[in-house]
Amino acid sequence: MEWKAIKPYHLFQHQSSWYVINVEGMFANTINEAAARMLEVINAEPVTQPEPLREELRKLGLLAEGRGQIQTDKKGLKKEPFPVISMCLFLTQSCNLKCVYCYGDGGGYGTGGSMEEKTALQAVNWLLEQAGKIKKLHIGFFGGEPFINFPLMKAVVEHAEKKVLEMGKKIDFHTTTNATLLNDERIAFIKEHQIATVISFDGPKEIQDAQRPYANGEGSYDTTVPKIKKLLAAVPETPGHAVIVGNTEPELVKEALQEIGFSEVSIVPASQSLFAGESDRTKKARTQRILQALEKEAENWISLTKSRNSEALKILKARNGLYQGLMALLHNTKKRYACGAGLSSAAVSCAGDIYLCHRFVGRDEYKLGNVFERDLNREEYQKSPVTGSGVCVACFAKYYCAGGCKHDNVGSSGSVAIPSEDMCRLRCRELELAAVIACRLDTEDKKFLIEREIFTPKPCPLDF
Ligand code: SF4
Ligand code: SF4
Repeated sequence: MEWKAIKPYHLFQHQSSWYVINVEGMFANTINEAAARMLEVINAEPVTQPEPLREELRKLGLLAEGRGQIQTDKKGLKKEPFPVISMCLFLTQSCNLKCVYCYGDGGGYGTGGSMEEKTALQAVNWLLEQAGKIKKLHIGFFGGEPFINFPLMKAVVEHAEKKVLEMGKKIDFHTTTNATLLNDERIAFIKEHQIATVISFDGPKEIQDAQRPYANGEGSYDTTVPKIKKLLAAVPETPGHAVIVGNTEPELVKEALQEIGFSEVSIVPASQSLFAGESDRTKKARTQRILQALEKEAENWISLTKSRNSEALKILKARNGLYQGLMALLHNTKKRYACGAGLSSAAVSCAGDIYLCHRFVGRDEYKLGNVFERDLNREEYQKSPVTGSGVCVACFAKYYCAGGCKHDNVGSSGSVAIPSEDMCRLRCRELELAAVIACRLDTEDKKFLIEREIFTPKPCPLDF
């Protein structure tokens, strides 16, 4: 990837209007051609901005002053080294489904197997030690299908709850399950211990059966839906999470999940890293299709807001295409890391090996240590991609994308730090289109979106 100069303003035209994204301030404006020319001059010589010019920029609202807050987590963590406070525990590395898009080799992640109790309890102790003074910890149960090893889930919850009580800390649990193994006892356990559960389910019967068959090839829709309904009766807020492969319409999937009873639904396209074996031509064609869908989505955000169609807007939000960028520009938030992998979170395999995140489990080159050992080798992941000398430093979308998913990067380039050009095109265009929407919505539009809980209000800087 070629080196680019760092520019404070990103200028672009959309439907013959000029827009500018203030990179450090993380906000967008519409501008006229004269202002665009002026900003081009500044971009060519960004270090020296004489005061009269600054005054001009100030009048146009184009200076970053006071805007652009580095995003922190709830504890306000900004600085490395980050204590590990969140652990994804692989109770089992086997699964009873064979999803077509599984990145974990059918749930086995190379080695397969089940976690032993002594490893699981040591992992809890390891997390407590890593967290240091941090009071609130998180454990996620993962697999394979985590409910295959339900007795171990119970043992971990019991041990962790006892330990945090002794140490004056707090802990919460979460899991993602395909719901095939839920029964009355397990649903009662989820409810009693407030295990935040996400159901992965792909929607209409034909799609669920085709994308998520049992190991013997049989469809999983008919056997799973009654179990999901039972869980929803006990824990109605349980969200459904669907993965889209190919050209499936997200609206169709959302409707199918709502029909089952989910009130909260998220929908994502299958991971980019699954397409690593594709030819360049196929990749470009897929990127082009996604770009076209994003252009349409931007128009939809504007027209549906102007026509006050909150139901359709909620579907757009669930689709998660331009929403994150829109929020980042409206709240002026700057991400330094795309995720917590190698920072505040880690995944622990059945053998007790610690990895960057759940998707890396089983890949030795991304192993950071073991819960029975003291050393944790993760210095190289502590550097933010938006600073230093990597490819992201001069990118106008860096505070939105922050280097992308490390696993996707490995899938396309072989390195956690080198993104694919296709992914960068998508991230950059997402931010541009989010800027177009942000600029074309007026105060009343934004007020409506906040009232309908489609947008979240900008957090007050004095909130702690
Ligand atoms: S990975 Fe993201 S931040 Fe880095 S160059 Fe690509 S779009 Fe920009
Ligand atoms: S590296 Fe990718 S898959 Fe892993 S936690 Fe980060 S975003 Fe998620």
